[in-house]
Amino acid sequence: MNLTYRELILWLKETLNGRENLDHEVRWLIEAFSGREFLSIGADEAVPRVSVYRRAAERLKRHEPFQYVVGSQEFYGHLFLVNESVLVPRPETELLAEKAIRWGRGRRLKALDLCTGSGCIAISLAKELDGDFLATDISEAALATAKKNNELNGTDVTFRYSDLFFHLPKGERFDLITANPPYLTQKEMREIPLEVTHEPFIALDGGPTGLFAIERIMKEVADRLGEKGLFLMEIGENQGETALSLAAKYGLAGAVTERDLNGKDRFLRWEKA
Ligand code: GLN
Repeated sequence: MNLTYRELILWLKETLNGRENLDHEVRWLIEAFSGREFLSIGADEAVPRVSVYRRAAERLKRHEPFQYVVGSQEFYGHLFLVNESVLVPRPETELLAEKAIRWGRGRRLKALDLCTGSGCIAISLAKELDGDFLATDISEAALATAKKNNELNGTDVTFRYSDLFFHLPKGERFDLITANPPYLTQKEMREIPLEVTHEPFIALDGGPTGLFAIERIMKEVADRLGEKGLFLMEIGENQGETALSLAAKYGLAGAVTERDLNGKDRFLRWEKA
């Protein structure tokens, strides 16, 4: 079928009617698939591949996340490829990257990012900081995506399979450890929005109390962090108190929780003495 961009825009708006951010989304779709600036496209020009827009509209109607449909998401000013194997990077997590970067400036670091997913934290850190960066995940599909993002961003992060710390050499220590583990509770998993059901469960599901990965990480982090090192982990908004009692249990003296931009407990921070 032949369509002009004017007709395409009308068709997309009609087909996707009801979406909250539709005007922007139509523009982003066209920019992503044409590889051109929206304003440089003439309304009477013929659309080269109408089928990609049809397919995109079908996926959006099935409530796939917009970022999967366009294939990317910006994080900390850099572009990351995303697909069903990785969580779409969230703004809260950008704040975690920002905190780590602020701490790490002016040092030479050996850094580890657990549950790396798309690699957005590790790659953003590697862009801004000096040192060696290792990032791990239990999902081979996520690691494949993260490696593409490493290439796309021109960074030199090492991506490796590991179940949290388990597959890392015994005794290997780091100056900086970051993590955005799966932390949703069973109840929260039952209530996730439709879009989120398309994201990998393994990246979201923290077991019955949401603390399965969090507790495993906290149990071992004291042994894995070097002196004066920093541990920064994203947690669920209702997990602040529990995270602090786990910190006490596992000897993370002086650990604190920090809030996200919505004022909710979102991070556990521990600087080793
Ligand atoms: N913030 C994510 C959500 O609410 C959860 C991320 C995670 O489990 N690490 O969808």
